[in-house]
Amino acid sequence: MNPKPVVTRFAPSPTGFMHVGSVRTAIFAWLFARKNHGTFILRIEDTDKERQVLGSIEHITDSLHWLGITWDEGIEVGGSHGPYIQSQRLDSYKKYAQTLIDKGYAYPDPYTQEEVEQWRMQAEAQQRPFLFRDHRPHDTRKWDGIQPLRFKIPEIKRYTWHDMVRGNLSAGEEALDDFVLIKGDGYPTYNFAHVIDDLEMKVTHIIRGEEFISSTPKFLSLYDALSIKPPILATVPVVLAPDGKKKLSKRDGAKDVLEYRKEGYLPEAIINFLSLLGWHPEGEQEVMSIAELTDAFELERVQKGGAIFDNIKLRWMNQQHLKRISDKEFIKQLTVLMNERGEQVPTYTQQILSLLRERSATLGEAANMLSSGEFNFYEAVSVDAALLMQNVQADRETVKRHLEKVRILIEPTSGENFSAERIKELIFPYANEQGRGAVLWPLRVALSGKEKSPDPFTLAELLGKDQTLQRIKSALQVL
Ligand code: GLU
Repeated sequence: MNPKPVVTRFAPSPTGFMHVGSVRTAIFAWLFARKNHGTFILRIEDTDKERQVLGSIEHITDSLHWLGITWDEGIEVGGSHGPYIQSQRLDSYKKYAQTLIDKGYAYPDPYTQEEVEQWRMQAEAQQRPFLFRDHRPHDTRKWDGIQPLRFKIPEIKRYTWHDMVRGNLSAGEEALDDFVLIKGDGYPTYNFAHVIDDLEMKVTHIIRGEEFISSTPKFLSLYDALSIKPPILATVPVVLAPDGKKKLSKRDGAKDVLEYRKEGYLPEAIINFLSLLGWHPEGEQEVMSIAELTDAFELERVQKGGAIFDNIKLRWMNQQHLKRISDKEFIKQLTVLMNERGEQVPTYTQQILSLLRERSATLGEAANMLSSGEFNFYEAVSVDAALLMQNVQADRETVKRHLEKVRILIEPTSGENFSAERIKELIFPYANEQGRGAVLWPLRVALSGKEKSPDPFTLAELLGKDQTLQRIKSALQVL
């Protein structure tokens, strides 16, 4: 018999921006579905109306679109198990609520919030956990569909279950009570809604964060009451701050994933980096395309322990992915980014492209270099004597002599040989002998006309022999 086709889901709550931890969970569920030629669902869990933030749903889809994470069923695309927004599925929850009532596993809660709160406080004062099961009413009247509905826990027992990542887990008594299924506002709780949705959407694997482990006995008792077999559970590890000690928070860089877009990160780099947060393929390869990641992904290789978020590695990863794109694509993406910032890509970009690419780990860094003017030495430079002499521990005559010597040293080189490397070879021994500052600073200023620029050897190569000699000549004239 063929195993059931894999169905996974990403089920974010629209409570603000999508931070990297949440995206990492989505990536694991997505890669697992893709690897197994299964279905990946995007479902919105919006039953906690107090925590809902306007615009979050759009933000979630924008983030996923930018990353290139596609879903087969869910909001926007539809599917045969919709709707995919929980607030539009209330009828479904009511139907299952009624089934539970009929089976004797649910009852309307006759108590006021104040009463429940009082018991909670009492339990706290006695330093024991508050469990609603001690307060079950004798009279479990008919549900009017408006009153909050509670689950009547069928059996207080210890549950043991298998987690694809964590192995065998066990918990029970301490977590089991008559939890709320449907709240006073008519919306279901997460505990109830996700169980029903996963059932109706035929989810085979629930891939989610570890904050749900402690409630798992609740979910399992609900599956029991409904006589359904739970999906396979897989718990992904927590994402830790760079210090490795605490959960990654906004303060340590848990940013909105779309911030990375603004900074000029490539979506493939973000996916590659995040997929390695708590998982790694066999072998040493780290820089991987989406296809390679999909091919290699295995839930069994996801680690149990927390995964450290390392910004330096992310930047490195982006640089590796930037190297993989063509010059044309680089310029195209840079243009988009700079235009979004209200800036233009300078005309000389093509000439300095290799240098720009070598020096920037993100498109944002490339854009910054261009807009700082550091590279616009292509435009005519006017050499300023004061700048030529700035910080140089020598007099004008000496500087003139150095520049003249440099001119003589590089004069015989031409064509292909006029490379940064060759020029450095020619000038460096002289500069070392005479004092690097006194030789290289005026040379660099002569070539760039600026206080800040790339090194003089690189500049010479980029400018070519004629311009280089021309600029040295102009500098000699102003000195
Ligand atoms: N709505 C839950 C959250 O955003 C999803 C948990 C789950 O995947 O079941 O944390």
